[in-house]
Amino acid sequence: MVFFKIINHGNGLKRLFIGGVHGKEGITTIKALKSISEEDVQEGSLVIYNCDESKYISTLNPLYYESETGLEVLDLIGHYKPDMYIELHCYKSENFQTLTDINRKKKLGVPPLIELEKGVLIGSVSPLIRTKIFDKDNICITLEIPCSPSDESLEVYKDFLKVLAGAKSRSDLEKKAAMIYPDQVETSQKYAWEIFGDYPPF
Ligand SMILES: [Zn+2]
Repeated sequence: MVFFKIINHGNGLKRLFIGGVHGKEGITTIKALKSISEEDVQEGSLVIYNCDESKYISTLNPLYYESETGLEVLDLIGHYKPDMYIELHCYKSENFQTLTDINRKKKLGVPPLIELEKGVLIGSVSPLIRTKIFDKDNICITLEIPCSPSDESLEVYKDFLKVLAGAKSRSDLEKKAAMIYPDQVETSQKYAWEIFGDYPPF
């Protein structure tokens, strides 16, 4: 399910959205990525890439970044050097509790994902790349949706992707996201602080 598209509207934020980074997740994420249109990006650029099916290795596992798809992801980041990096995943509904578990940080070393609504979850990307490859000021977000999602979940997911595609800067994004999801933005800022100290959210 490889899909590749570049929207280039000149100077501004450089964005990279990658879906289906492991397992069969790309079958779900491609539906959302294909819905992003030229009009969603007013300025700057957006590179959209959906990966082919691959073996499932967690992005928290260092071996992932030695796998074929993991190396592909690193290549894309290295080539496009995005200011905004969005990773699209899907999860099996039975994993909802584990992903949003308040004690996830104690158990796995990463904060829990936060539900926006309709099972759509937001969090940071793997610490293996967040702190090593990206700058402090970059925006790095993981967006999770149930695999084989309901129409409602898919709508929430697509709408939030469009907010991301249209945001002109970190502050613009924080302002727009906080208007729709004030509690979730506040919680994500709290988690980011716990992980990164004075790191910005996401
Ligand atoms: Zn995933």
